[in-house]
Amino acid sequence: MNIRKSLAILLILVPISIGPLQAQDSGFDGLKAEAVASVGSMQKLTQEIIDSLFSFSELGFQEFETQRYLTELLQDNGFDVELGIAGIPSAWWASWGNGEPVIALGSDVDGIPRASQMPGVAYRQPMIEGAPGHGEGHNSGQAVNIVAALAVKAIMERENLPGTIVLWPGIAEELLGTKAWYARDGLFEGVDAVLFTHVGRNLGVSWGRARGTGLVSVEYLFDGEAAHGAGDPWEGRSALDAVELMNIAWNFRREHLHPLQRSHYVISNGGDQPNVVPSSASVWYFIREVTADGIRQNFATLQQIAEGAALMSDTSVTRRIVGAAYPRHFNRPIALAMDQNIQNVGLPQWSEDDQQFAKALQTLMGSEDPQGLATELSGITPDLEEPVSGGSDDIGDVAWNVPTVTLRYPSNVSGLQGHHWSSAMAMATPIAHKGAVAGAKVIAATMLDLVQSDTLVDEAHSYFEDVQTADEEYQPFIGPEDPPAIEKNEDIMAEFRPLLQDLYYDPSRYDTYLEQLGIDYPQLEATEIRRN
Ligand SMILES: [Zn+2]
Repeated sequence: MNIRKSLAILLILVPISIGPLQAQDSGFDGLKAEAVASVGSMQKLTQEIIDSLFSFSELGFQEFETQRYLTELLQDNGFDVELGIAGIPSAWWASWGNGEPVIALGSDVDGIPRASQMPGVAYRQPMIEGAPGHGEGHNSGQAVNIVAALAVKAIMERENLPGTIVLWPGIAEELLGTKAWYARDGLFEGVDAVLFTHVGRNLGVSWGRARGTGLVSVEYLFDGEAAHGAGDPWEGRSALDAVELMNIAWNFRREHLHPLQRSHYVISNGGDQPNVVPSSASVWYFIREVTADGIRQNFATLQQIAEGAALMSDTSVTRRIVGAAYPRHFNRPIALAMDQNIQNVGLPQWSEDDQQFAKALQTLMGSEDPQGLATELSGITPDLEEPVSGGSDDIGDVAWNVPTVTLRYPSNVSGLQGHHWSSAMAMATPIAHKGAVAGAKVIAATMLDLVQSDTLVDEAHSYFEDVQTADEEYQPFIGPEDPPAIEKNEDIMAEFRPLLQDLYYDPSRYDTYLEQLGIDYPQLEATEIRRN
């Protein structure tokens, strides 16, 4: 057994002292006060999980080191683990306990291509040039969930409280690649509530319709006839022509789509070289809209355009769904309970170093009046009156199958570029660690609300049945046969994994990852980094 595992177990077995710790988290009493204090005593474990996942830097569908590390930790702490759920090799389902309520905690784990970045320094420095990195902050959410689960599990065991705790990962969230498949395979049948966590810049929750869109991510593959590009081009049928015709048609059609739609594409295969008529070519689209019906309509339009392009170019076309995300709708009763806990926990105490670092990052990214880290809670966000367009998140597919909320916790810095190396800079620093501890306290307290309240689970179900799904039925964008795109990112990780392995965090030798990297946080000026 290695040191990090034994540490995790030790933290559970050591009797929790609640006297002095409890006083810091005023507003809680009873078991919730104890759970929150217990989370506070697991700061070290929280930091180790966050720093480890940061160092693994794995892309979607290839999160195998992350899977190994987290599932070993969970098994050592008494969870039953099933690997490879829903036909997705890097996924897992970890459960402990008996009976109801069944509370499932989820968070994404995948990174961003080309976002490799040294943490704790306020200037661009890739750890490995061109490598993936945690430029979204998905290295922090499992720490929030696991630490909360361990704290609550210890209390449920001692008090003999009925209930089941499940921990699951959002695999390949950056490809919107798995949650609709989890739902299709029935993983959430029998689950009473999903508490999802996502990195943010404040501590907050929302209910009802959320900002943003849902989407279908779909690749169209055209088949033509190869020929010599100069010798006898009349023998050829260009698949690339089909791709170009499809894109032109879509770009004309945009004028007549509802303005809240968002759609974008990349040519994933444009042929091999100019003197060979491309016999195969493909284009990959994201079709986003604020309603499920809008997505279905625009997807049908796109399908028609693809068939039209095939007809015009005398090629044939097939399609493959790569990802899907339903527009999000979150549960009101659970969000209200969570918001009470958010107010009791409050924001972390940021140090001057944290604030100085945050402002340096904001300045780096062009702010003339950097505000630093949040010191006031943002408050609960209610149901949107008017839809607002923007990004998508496949937690929507979960939220249409089981009462769900998403907690945003303050592990990153506002004003940075999303899906970008700048958003990796704080993700293995005290900012990420403190934000995750605050998030874990909220999750632990909300789990106990669900376990202890006589009414909360019923209220959550009534909202789900009588309000959310009263006039809208979930109709998934994927069919029963669409496979998950599990080969994505295989080639990139094959290239970079050997280089990343040399930089994996070793908690048995270094207190923090910053220490292992020889970074004197906050490092504001570019100096030569001494690697320990
Ligand atoms: Zn995300």
